[in-house]
Amino acid sequence: MPLDVRVATSMAEAAGILTADQRTKLLSGGTLMMRDVNEGRLLDGTLLRITDPAYRQMNTSGARIELGAGVTMAMVSNNRDLAFLHAAARSIGGPAIRQMATIGGNLFAQTPYGDFAVALLALDAQVMVQSGYGSARSMPLDEFLGARERGVSGLVAGVQFSKPQNAADFRFRKVSRVKPKGIAVMSIAAHLPNTGGRISQARVAYGAMAPTAVRARGVERALEGKALDAASIQAAKAAALEGTRPATDAIASEWYRREVLPVHLGRLLTGEGR
Ligand SMILES: Cc1cc2nc3c(=O)[nH]c(=O)nc-3n(C[C@H](O)[C@H](O)[C@H](O)COP(=O)(O)OP(=O)(O)OC[C@H]3O[C@@H](n4cnc5c(N)ncnc54)[C@H](O)[C@@H]3O)c2cc1C
Repeated sequence: MPLDVRVATSMAEAAGILTADQRTKLLSGGTLMMRDVNEGRLLDGTLLRITDPAYRQMNTSGARIELGAGVTMAMVSNNRDLAFLHAAARSIGGPAIRQMATIGGNLFAQTPYGDFAVALLALDAQVMVQSGYGSARSMPLDEFLGARERGVSGLVAGVQFSKPQNAADFRFRKVSRVKPKGIAVMSIAAHLPNTGGRISQARVAYGAMAPTAVRARGVERALEGKALDAASIQAAKAAALEGTRPATDAIASEWYRREVLPVHLGRLLTGEGR
């Protein structure tokens, strides 16, 4: 049977179709999926497009940011309220890819892709998942990524997170061999809110250092309650590898990723080369 394309005009309709037919796959920006089609890995079944405006809606003016899963990297890059996320959005592919690539698709991209998910993880984002015709339920992104690895997901309707009170508290760094469009050796994001000169509720996340984006819990512990100074940065670097399981791929070996992670974490924390 050849490939078929269907269009859903509402999120609930899309979720209902995806739940009822396992051979139907959501086509978001299509930058990964159309590659599978063009290269013959996806030959039959149904591709589902969503035309519900909510899928690409952005609420960015308040303290709580809401982004539809169909929001593209270009839309993020062009939004002034999201300036703290521009580095993460612009780190993805070239301009043509960013015009199509969506936030929702990035949550499903296999490592070493998934750079935007790393930024969202450091922002403690909640993922709105719609399964069937009911209303969307919210789950923490790290829980979502764990479930995705076990093959359990659903239609991602959007993501929500609190805007950093101070843009300088949020940092993102992607390490790649080819600039500006290279695939990640690794990416690192950190949200380091500061109360009276002390870091409070540090969130640090890595990409390409495990099968999904992961939190750097050892680093978070090392920084919590501390001033961001030479001593705390040294402690964070010493804890950098906790919880990591990097792969060897065409971009870098597992050994290399482990070797350079503390160096790049140190540069992110000191603000070097920003
Ligand atoms: C040349 C090139 C360069 C790239 N560079 C980078 C890079 O630097 N960094 C990076 O992170 N990625 C990169 N990518 C990968 C990709 O472009 C991005 O990860 C992008 O965000 C994927 O989103 P999409 O909308 O195109 O996904 P699609 O191709 O539409 O979908 C990918 C998968 O996710 C599923 N999916 C998508 N949206 C949803 C949803 N809302 N709910 C449920 N399932 C969903 C689809 O069913 C499919 O299985 C690159 C790709 C190419 C081709």
